[in-house]
Amino acid sequence: MRTPARSFAPLAPLTAAVVLLGLTPTAAGDLRGFTAESAKAEREWEAKFRAIPSPDSLRAYMRRLSARPHHVGSPYDKDNAEWILAKFKSFGLEAQIETFDVLFPTPKERAVELVAPTRFVAKLQEPALPGDPTSAQQAEQLPSYNAYSIDGDVTAPLVYVNYGVPADYERLERLGVSVKGAIVIARYFGSWRGIKPKVAAEHGAVGCLIYSDPREDGYTQGDVYPQGPWRPRDGVQRGSVMDMPLYPGDPLTPGVGATKNAKRLPVSEAPTITKIPVLPISYGDAQPLLAALGGRVAPLDWHGGLGITYHIGPGPARVHLRIKSDWGLKTLYDVIARIPGATAPDEWVIRGNHHDAWVNGAEDPVSGQVPLLEEARAYGQLLKQGWQPRRTIIYAAWDGEEPALLGSTEWVETHADELATKAVAYLNSDTNDRGYLFMQGSHSLENFINDVARDTEDPETKLSVWKREQQRAIAGARTAEDRQELRQRADLRIEALGSGSDYTPFLQHVGVASLNLGYGGETGGGIYHSIYDDFKWYTTFSDTSFVYGRALAQTVGTAVMRLADADVLPYQFTGLAETVGRYAKEVAKLLKDTQDTIRERNRELDEGLFAATNDPREPLVPPARQDLPPFLNFAPLDNAVDLLTRAADRYERAFGRAQANGGATLARPEARAVNAALIQSERALASTAGLPRRPWYRHAVYAPGFYTGYGVKTLPGVREAIEQRNWPEAEQQIVVVSKALQGAADVVNRAADQMEKLAP
Ligand SMILES: [Zn+2]
Repeated sequence: MRTPARSFAPLAPLTAAVVLLGLTPTAAGDLRGFTAESAKAEREWEAKFRAIPSPDSLRAYMRRLSARPHHVGSPYDKDNAEWILAKFKSFGLEAQIETFDVLFPTPKERAVELVAPTRFVAKLQEPALPGDPTSAQQAEQLPSYNAYSIDGDVTAPLVYVNYGVPADYERLERLGVSVKGAIVIARYFGSWRGIKPKVAAEHGAVGCLIYSDPREDGYTQGDVYPQGPWRPRDGVQRGSVMDMPLYPGDPLTPGVGATKNAKRLPVSEAPTITKIPVLPISYGDAQPLLAALGGRVAPLDWHGGLGITYHIGPGPARVHLRIKSDWGLKTLYDVIARIPGATAPDEWVIRGNHHDAWVNGAEDPVSGQVPLLEEARAYGQLLKQGWQPRRTIIYAAWDGEEPALLGSTEWVETHADELATKAVAYLNSDTNDRGYLFMQGSHSLENFINDVARDTEDPETKLSVWKREQQRAIAGARTAEDRQELRQRADLRIEALGSGSDYTPFLQHVGVASLNLGYGGETGGGIYHSIYDDFKWYTTFSDTSFVYGRALAQTVGTAVMRLADADVLPYQFTGLAETVGRYAKEVAKLLKDTQDTIRERNRELDEGLFAATNDPREPLVPPARQDLPPFLNFAPLDNAVDLLTRAADRYERAFGRAQANGGATLARPEARAVNAALIQSERALASTAGLPRRPWYRHAVYAPGFYTGYGVKTLPGVREAIEQRNWPEAEQQIVVVSKALQGAADVVNRAADQMEKLAP
């Protein structure tokens, strides 16, 4: 799924001082983890590899895969899976389809109508557009809806809640507006969509509408489809609203694969289905509802791009919302190809992209799926020429990502034990457009993926994609300090992963070091999850010459080869330790900022500030008084960061000695013991009992936010406890996270022990 193109995220703000590691760098031209001899061979194979992916093939694959709607359970979803299987086989790869049976609701009845003060019936229909042939395939299109909304039939006053995130409800409280018993209307963006009905239900709403405001991805941004790439008046963003921050995958089989005979929860007991009915609508359908609202005028930053004064309500607009779904099981088709490793077959490098879409899905997900196919085709050719990857490579075309990361989650849950011993890394892509390489993932792979980016050419500027991204980041940096770091730090910082695509089960459930890669930032658009995300739109407005599809195949394919072929796995822990140290400082600062804010607000209450500044014609409710947060003991966290930092430095020094002077020691059989230790490094970070109230998420450093959805929360146990002002839990989670970091430090020290034996 991934967030729409417009929200291409800039790098996280950089605040820490430049860190110059002062460790032995590998000589120019060397490849981390390779001997001089194996690096030479690797470079030759990689150059051959990068010459193979072809824009014409990418275009032909996209035309085929996006030719008809292919959501979970549709005939063309299965047809595509079989076609992908045949392709893998025709490339000479061993491949098979793995199936799972999952709960996937599809709508039978949908209705939204304004019943007072006037009457208006929402169309809930995206029209076919002339010149866009696949937009007319109505018989096969899933209607616009939000998957995993509970069935419901409610009539209630309407309240506008802006993005519908927790901060918006705090604002409503001050404005004296309650959503109890109301239907809320929220605009898309500001959070992952599933947060909106979740927070609305927590505040007592009985229904939820989510609409696409033209300010975010319609005419405020640019010309609308088909004249331009932006969302037309009747375009609707479909999407899942399942409570995935609790657990993704089949709602009926949490933690285990949804195989034929798996034990299933009754639908009524599935905790990830929404508590209130929810439906997405277009701005064409939303405009009359919003225009009928009275009550207070919304705060200025709540106004969207519709030509009306935005009011909050409640009422006089009353809305009737009805949704009823077919709650049957549907079959998933994951296509899995394997290239057995020649030397270390039990070390797996896994690469995936989903193949299911909401409708035709040329951008999401086919633009990421077709480079994956070209990578596989290229590997087939290299194998015929004698290339033998050292490790096993697994290529996966996942089904059911859109509803709930279904195909990847069920596969990971089914193979969890094997993955825990064998998985080296998981590399994901999803939507791919034009522009800049974004690099997100595990910080133990930060240095590795920076190296790959330095070796990949940008098709527009002919700079390396690394250089181009560095220049973009400098252009967007807010402070001189940030610019200095971007110029001086050896590697660009990679962004931590929250959720939003198939890396989640690998990274956050099993602890497999993961990367999410793609190009974007130059194509805006408003066709995300609509019938207009199709071949016509993509080949008119996005990567029209497929050169960025080729760049993605070159980037990810090179990364997979390099991980699969390295004598010693190229993880680097100094960047990880430094980054975790920054996170530890952030959570300590979060506590201090919370204390300062509450102290100041309580003082303002004591001094009568809110009464003194109240406008009696636009009254505001004073905020509630809060207890001052206690001081917490962050020392265990600081000590654990220190342990990890020392282990990382020690490993890096030993590694530098081993790689020096041609690095012949890296190829000695004893290096296997280093790899055996290294492969467990990320797993150690996911060794916890899981996050409070959501044990499926086990990673101590990265998780999707319980109230942000896709957005990452780093050191989530600690950070979210502070945000939720749960002080005993914060204190306890500091200890839990510290133990996980200590566990990782132990693993890195074990790898250093082995490395020191190789290079004393
Ligand atoms: Zn996607």
